[in-house]
Amino acid sequence: MGAGFAGVACVRRLERRLTDREALITLLSPFSYQLYLPLLPQVASGVLTPQSVALSLRRSQRHRTRIVPGGAVGVDTAAKAVVVRTISGEYVTEPYDHLVLAPGSVTRSFDIPGLAEHARGMKTLAEAVYIRDHVIAQLDLADASNDEAERAARLCFVVVGGGYAGTETAACLQLLTHNAVKRYPRIDPRLIKWHLVDIAPKLMPELGDKLGSAAMNILTGRGIEVSLGVSVASVDEESVTLTDGRVLPSRTLIWTAGVAASPLIGTLGAETLRGRLVVSPDMAVPGLDGVWGLGDAAAVPDLAKGEEGAICPPTAQHAMRQGKALADNMVATLRGEKTQPYVHKDLGLVVDLGGMDGVSKPLGVELHGMPAQAVARAYHWSALRTNVAKTRVMTNWLLNAAAGDDFVRTGFLAAKAGTLRDFEYTDAYLTPEQVRLHTASFRGGAVEAG
Ligand SMILES: Cc1cc2nc3c(=O)[nH]c(=O)nc-3n(C[C@H](O)[C@H](O)[C@H](O)COP(=O)(O)OP(=O)(O)OC[C@H]3O[C@@H](n4cnc5c(N)ncnc54)[C@H](O)[C@@H]3O)c2cc1C
Repeated sequence: MGAGFAGVACVRRLERRLTDREALITLLSPFSYQLYLPLLPQVASGVLTPQSVALSLRRSQRHRTRIVPGGAVGVDTAAKAVVVRTISGEYVTEPYDHLVLAPGSVTRSFDIPGLAEHARGMKTLAEAVYIRDHVIAQLDLADASNDEAERAARLCFVVVGGGYAGTETAACLQLLTHNAVKRYPRIDPRLIKWHLVDIAPKLMPELGDKLGSAAMNILTGRGIEVSLGVSVASVDEESVTLTDGRVLPSRTLIWTAGVAASPLIGTLGAETLRGRLVVSPDMAVPGLDGVWGLGDAAAVPDLAKGEEGAICPPTAQHAMRQGKALADNMVATLRGEKTQPYVHKDLGLVVDLGGMDGVSKPLGVELHGMPAQAVARAYHWSALRTNVAKTRVMTNWLLNAAAGDDFVRTGFLAAKAGTLRDFEYTDAYLTPEQVRLHTASFRGGAVEAG
């Protein structure tokens, strides 16, 4: 379940290691691509086209996995069946002997007045495209307006979340508006304000003090106002109120304040740790026969860290490697062999801040500026799974460097409200009782009560 970093790595390894006489492999995925999420801020800022970060699941005839186009909306672990809502809205039930849960995560949100209606995420391709259109639309509308207050609100953008996703998003989108405003002679560039807000006392604490302040200098040098130790108290259509009492007139709140495991995990009735599915070091789910969990959705013990209770951070770096290791463990189980615990020592972090800027800590080496950006791009480029994706991304980078961006607003999703619920399907899941109605035939026709 889930065609992300973890799911696809697992499927490809299973395809290689098992013959079709040994196993039938089914992939449940609402989309026909694997999304390379770390490059989403570059899609939002127009450096890359959406297609270049959407890697086709049907690239080669060698891929024999059956793909069910839909999202899993419930699991009956007793009947060993998954209920799927297909992209046409029908419900189908898929039985399994082994189930790999890799549905990833959704944007973590809080009970803040107005957040559900007005916050926009940066976790799906649709959200990245939507935010790009939204930001360009604000420039268009501000340019056309003669109302000073409206212009100020439309040109004030707020990003919440000082982790790598939020920092990259703020940095890349600020560059977008900085470059785009040259096409709007009626807008004074000094009116454009970007705010990056985080409740934590530091930006990207995992980078350490030196790189954290290097990132801070890059952002403030570009005019982004960074507010630490502060969060959002409330938001409405025209303003964002911060917990320090400031009211920012703004029509844009981009919410990247961390991730939470897919809501599907909460419906399983299995043990969770901070919302993530508890799994053993070999990624099997204790007490659930044939069920495995990994990636952002699971709390995989981080044995390389050597600290009691440490779990792997939700990164692509881990998800991809866990996918391969889990496939090997599943093959071992099928063949009656011993499974192995997952161990991977973190390789560090790369953060692309757009233009020529970045901060990176590959293998503990601290870099900032252009060398950091070069390392970030080289890392992502080499991590792209297919040669066609590598070619697309490289061509886009070269094209963008040579010809820039035309700041075109596509309008494809303009009619959508664009909430986290709309784009991340957070309310799509069935209750256990509803699931059992769909899986009745897998329990010999009897629908269990309660
Ligand atoms: C903006 C941004 C930048 C990032 N930068 C980095 C970085 O530089 N380095 C790094 O290591 N990590 C980075 N990450 C984190 C990284 O992308 C995630 O940790 C990684 O994607 C997790 O992999 P996954 O397979 O668990 O989940 P995902 O890759 O999110 O895949 C989950 C898949 O499951 C699908 N799915 C969801 N629900 C269901 C369902 N019910 N049924 C079926 N399918 C479902 C989704 O559509 C998706 O395809 C970044 C994340 C973001 C948002």
